[in-house]
Amino acid sequence: MTFEEIKKKISGYKDAGRSLFTTSSFQSHSIVMLHIISRIDPEIPVVFINTGYHFPETVRFKDEVSRLFSLNTIDLKPSTPKFMQRDADGRLLFTSDPDHCCYLNKTMPVDTLLRKYDVWINGIRGDQSSVRKRMKVEQEAPHGTIRFHPMLDWTPRMIYQYQKEFDLPRHPLEEQGYMSIGCEPCTRKVDPDMMEREARWYGMSKAECGLHTDLVKN
Ligand code: SF4
Repeated sequence: MTFEEIKKKISGYKDAGRSLFTTSSFQSHSIVMLHIISRIDPEIPVVFINTGYHFPETVRFKDEVSRLFSLNTIDLKPSTPKFMQRDADGRLLFTSDPDHCCYLNKTMPVDTLLRKYDVWINGIRGDQSSVRKRMKVEQEAPHGTIRFHPMLDWTPRMIYQYQKEFDLPRHPLEEQGYMSIGCEPCTRKVDPDMMEREARWYGMSKAECGLHTDLVKN
C-alpha cells in the first residue's frame, strides 16, 4: 500500500469510531511503518512488547525513535513474573519451551490488548515468512479485532528507499551483524548464507513467536 492508501484506510477506521493501536519490535525495517504512522497520526498508541529479554540497545533505540517521531509509545509487560517462568529443572523457559515463553511474554499480553482495541495495525511483510505470505491486508483477530497489515506488499527495496528518503535511524546492532533482532536469548548474528529470520530461535524448530499464528483468524 502507498502512504496515501494507508492514510485513507486509517482515516476510514477513525471516522467509523474504531480505536487503533500498533505494535513494534523497533528494528530498522519496523521504523518505516512507525514513521508513516507518525506522519498520519502520532497519537495512535505504539505498543512495545517488553518481554524483559530485549537487548539494552533495542530499549534505548525504542526511546530514541519515540522521541524523534513524537510517538505515543507504551511498554507492554507480561503479567507472569519471571520466577514463575521456569521449567521443571528450574531453567528459564526460553531454554526448553520457547513457545510457552513467547506465549507468556508476547501473545498473552497482546491478547489482552485485543479486548480493548478495534484495529491492530501490524507491520508484517509477506516476504518475511510463509506464514506472513498467506496473510491478507485486513484479517480478523480474536475478540472482534481487525488486523490491518499495511506493509504486506512492501519489499526490502521499498523499505530501503523509504529509509533513505527520510534518513531514518538504524538499530545500533545492525552494524555488528544482527539483521532480525528480537529477544537477546533467541537472536544471533546472521551468517552470509543465512536468510534474515533464520537468526531467530536458531537451531530450534520455531519460526514465529505466536503473534501471527495464534492471534489471527483465517
Ligand atoms: S523470543 Fe525467546 S526470550 Fe523472547 S519471549 Fe520468545 S522464547 Fe522468550
